[in-house]
Amino acid sequence: MSDSTARLRMQALCDQLNQYNNEYYVLDAPSVPDSEYDRLLRELRELEAQYPELQLADSPSLRVGGEPLPEFRQVRHETPMLSLDNVFSEDELRDFDRRVRGRLTDPAELRYACEPKLDGIAVSLLYVDGVLVRAATRGDGRVGEDITHNVRTIRSVPLKLKGGGWPAELEVRGEIYMPRQGFEKMNEAARQAGTKTFVNPRNAAAGSLRQLDSRITATRPLEMCCYGIAGAEEGLFATHSEGLYQLGEWGFNINPEMRVVDDIDGCLAYYADMLSRRDGLSYDIDGLVFKVDSLALQAELGFVSRAPRWAIAHKFPAQEEITLLKDVEFQV
Ligand code: NAD
Repeated sequence: MSDSTARLRMQALCDQLNQYNNEYYVLDAPSVPDSEYDRLLRELRELEAQYPELQLADSPSLRVGGEPLPEFRQVRHETPMLSLDNVFSEDELRDFDRRVRGRLTDPAELRYACEPKLDGIAVSLLYVDGVLVRAATRGDGRVGEDITHNVRTIRSVPLKLKGGGWPAELEVRGEIYMPRQGFEKMNEAARQAGTKTFVNPRNAAAGSLRQLDSRITATRPLEMCCYGIAGAEEGLFATHSEGLYQLGEWGFNINPEMRVVDDIDGCLAYYADMLSRRDGLSYDIDGLVFKVDSLALQAELGFVSRAPRWAIAHKFPAQEEITLLKDVEFQV
């Protein structure tokens, strides 16, 4: 491909993806399935790798999420809320493992924590002296929306921590999602009432969280599952999994499917097992997340612009159909 053809294609991909990002993150109304979005982003990434000098400043490959909505107070994240890099195959996952090992001074210590990748909304919870004082969306990763009034209505979010031993300031991160059964029930009620239905549980969770009136959120069947602590590597715990178990003790929901494995073959066995059980879970997952378990090794690996180097999302094959998106009306 000539430079000028590549430039034109990259510009077209950036424009298209930025439009999809706005529909997905800001309007909560995607017009294409995730698999289509992922395919175009992959094409853009490949072109950017081939022609790095042509990368555009507004490339979606450099950015996380979308702009926060002006209706909500803005919250600046002290520790940015990043995204995750994706792989779609065993070979790509093995490449990730090779890259991780290649960067570590002592790869013998490497183990992976394996977790389902919940398809919901990333949220940060701030506790001061064990009391929930603020909840915020990820937004663009640096600035999110203050949704404390809505998050307080979710029963699986502790308003006060149990036990003791927490730091004076604790920032917990996780996913707020809508379990499938609650989603089906809610849509059935909407159908019977002749009102609009939601396109999928993720869209329903996003719309429910961004209500200005928390009485509406309170009626929505939302749950929260926690998957991390901001700044955990600063000596609180030795491993990511230890931090998660402690979160469980303090009263947070953590995923009971979390496992720690010795190597990438363990991750692949976990993938096969979870893929076979995916349909039986009570919530939607779009893949799995593998994280370097040692927090010291995580710190050694660090971050790139929009994602940590110590974690990877292994996406499942797409399930959704484009017709589904076309046929259903959206509701915020
Ligand atoms: P992502 O969904 O690929 O991964 C990052 C997110 O995973 C985190 O922010 C967190 O919220 C979530 N997560 C769930 N379980 C987790 C766990 N156990 N540990 C850590 N994180 C966990 O990245 P993204 O930036 O949120 O979204 C990108 C994806 O969204 C795309 O790959 C695409 O599938 C979809 N998308 C679709 C459209 C569209 O138009 N259809 C547009 C934009 C994005």
